[in-house]
Amino acid sequence: MLSKKLVFPGEFLATEEEYSSGVNTFSDSEGRVFADSVGIADFDDAKREVLVSKKSRIVKPAGIGSTVLGKVMFVKDNMIVLELVEAEKNGEELRLLHSTGSLMVSRVSNFFVKRLRDDFKIGDLVKARIIEANTYGVELSTNAPNLGVVRAYCSKCRQELGLFAGSLKCTSCGSLERRKLSSEYSLKKS
Ligand SMILES: [Zn+2]
Repeated sequence: MLSKKLVFPGEFLATEEEYSSGVNTFSDSEGRVFADSVGIADFDDAKREVLVSKKSRIVKPAGIGSTVLGKVMFVKDNMIVLELVEAEKNGEELRLLHSTGSLMVSRVSNFFVKRLRDDFKIGDLVKARIIEANTYGVELSTNAPNLGVVRAYCSKCRQELGLFAGSLKCTSCGSLERRKLSSEYSLKKS
């Protein structure tokens, strides 16, 4: 079976006992394999190899109404800034014209959000919609059920958090956390 997952440089993929290090990956002295590029990780069980396929050239640009995926770079009281990773509209992948996007506190959800630090943490992966674009960058919104955090990491030990019956929990240290979650959160445990 072949499973696919979007990964970032430095992201842990597997141990060398599980999968050998393929294209766009590297291994460390402890035999752990990491991604060295943004792309889709292919875990090839037949060859026992993991590789990262980089994104192919995409022509159409992302604009207002496009959905983006971004990594939280920093969190302020009234806005967060995302490093944009990919964009799409109606399933078609688009070219990003900006490397970052900002999300204002008023555009997070219909509910009153007091402090963004309670809903987003650095390193989280967020799905958002472009609602404004200008020469300085893009403005984003997460005001829809499928928008918000799709992957989050434990603020204590950095393990990926699992979603257990609506609650985010670290399987490694047991920490419970909250986020502005997307209905498409990646690691759901029922
Ligand atoms: Zn933890």
